[in-house]
Amino acid sequence: MGRLALVTGGTRGIGRAISTSLKSAGYRVVANYGGNDEAAHAFTAETGIPSVKWDIGDFAATDAAIKAIIAEHGPIDIVINNAGITRDATLHKMSPEMWNDVIRTNLTSCFNTSRLVIDAMRERGFGRIVNIGSINGQAGQYGQSNYAAAKSGIHGFTKALAQEGAARGVTVNAIAPGYVDTDMVRSVPQPVLEKIIAKIPAGRLGRANDIARAVLFLIADDADFITGSTISVNGGQHMY
Ligand code: NDP
Repeated sequence: MGRLALVTGGTRGIGRAISTSLKSAGYRVVANYGGNDEAAHAFTAETGIPSVKWDIGDFAATDAAIKAIIAEHGPIDIVINNAGITRDATLHKMSPEMWNDVIRTNLTSCFNTSRLVIDAMRERGFGRIVNIGSINGQAGQYGQSNYAAAKSGIHGFTKALAQEGAARGVTVNAIAPGYVDTDMVRSVPQPVLEKIIAKIPAGRLGRANDIARAVLFLIADDADFITGSTISVNGGQHMY
């Protein structure tokens, strides 16, 4: 049996590409999602990958869901912390809700899943955790202090947890995508998007599969010496 991967936010956008790429590569996959039942049901019907709805920012809900997944499918070998949202505004217009929603969905979610699988991974001597950060967590971005804080937090979390897992076969890495053509980026106003694309040396937005390719590299059994790293997948937009 192939290794079991949990992909959070795994039914749409980048997460969907990760889920399907992993399945094609022989992994068993369970995809989490937050609220879009229509997209999730269509995803499961098309791909055969089970989708499970819960709020990834909620520890108790994540605990219950992970226990149910393990009971049905066995131990979780791989977690891809991909679920994320934006609630953009300059700080002087940002509400506490906009701040808290982004921190809990993008960053606290990584604690929730990782905390709930790490003991078993350490005991089994194998685990792969890949956290999806962002170029905007590396460089900051106007109107995204909440998102940049959460994504920057992911990069720090990755390096700290990597040190804790290294001697137990658990690797923890991050991917920092540049701008990728998904619903999240399609919500950016067209004139802003055109300016962004003009700054990407590759001359195009990323594709969700560009990110999935990097995930596959990091989760391989023989990628066991790669930990605490961040892979930038951004068409050359910034060099960090
Ligand atoms: P999408 O908006 O296309 O998809 C987001 C996914 O996350 C959906 O499956 C959504 O579920 C899920 N999700 C959102 N909130 C929750 C929640 N509370 N609980 C569980 N699942 C939730 O996003 P992208 O594919 O564009 O982004 C994926 C990741 O990549 C994010 O972390 C994002 O920050 C990051 N990223 C994206 C970039 C881009 O340019 N697109 C650039 C850099 C980083 P549902 O379908 O139910 O809403």
